[in-house]
Amino acid sequence: SFSAWSSKRCAVIGGSGFLGRHLVEKLLGKGYTVSVFDIRQSYELPGVTFHQGDLCDKQALLTALQGVSLVFHCASPAPASDDKALFQRVNIQGTHTVLQACTEAGVQKVVLTSSASVVFEGTDIKDGREDLPYAKKPIDYYTETKIEQEKLVLKACDKEKGLLTVAIRPHGIFGPRDPQLVPILVDTARRGNMKFIIGDGSNLVDFTFVDNVVHGLILSAESLRPESPICGKAYHITNDEPVRF
Ligand code: NAD
Repeated sequence: SFSAWSSKRCAVIGGSGFLGRHLVEKLLGKGYTVSVFDIRQSYELPGVTFHQGDLCDKQALLTALQGVSLVFHCASPAPASDDKALFQRVNIQGTHTVLQACTEAGVQKVVLTSSASVVFEGTDIKDGREDLPYAKKPIDYYTETKIEQEKLVLKACDKEKGLLTVAIRPHGIFGPRDPQLVPILVDTARRGNMKFIIGDGSNLVDFTFVDNVVHGLILSAESLRPESPICGKAYHITNDEPVRF
């Protein structure tokens, strides 16, 4: 059932978001036909079909996934939210629904945007590898549900059933149109609230340029084949060296 590997019809769930839009633009440039599935439409682009809907709604997903062989899942509630029920519903139940819809629609590959925070236990990690265990005490509810989400997606990888999955784990994505990271830092600094350091100033933090995340997502999608070693695995994606913060 892996006959249509060359198909360039893909869908980006969360394609109206910061990362999603960068991904969509790069995919178009590489000759893909792109459907965006999102609860909101934030832009218009030639070559992109928008489907407005909630990823917890399987029927809505099935409409958007018709004829699609590759799905990128980059939707999530804002990490800063404290709405536990929303994280649970969208990141866990919703991901379950996405996987079901993908199976029913005959999608062959699912590429998840996970997060490097799934292995963060509160202490610095340098040169952290993918064999680090999941955090036993995730730092917040967002991360807790990102862990469950990643497990669900990787577990769904099944060559017999014809669905292959992989996850990419960025941290602190920055780049043009970033709505959160840099604007919030700048705003906090302007208000004079950046005078305090938690710890002794040697804590490590990693940031990832948005184009590197997009590159990792497309590379993993294009390398995903029944025989490839990346099936059902997660990969950290970083810039180079972590920053002292
Ligand atoms: P974003 O908020 O800009 O984009 C997320 C998109 O998901 C939005 O367009 C939103 O409308 C959509 N969405 C939310 N709930 C939905 C639902 N129920 N149904 C359909 N669409 C829904 O966020 P982003 O920074 O682009 O993040 C994209 C992905 O990357 C997320 O999975 C996030 O967890 C992950 N991630 C982001 C960062 C970062 O620093 N930005 C770091 C690590 C991982």
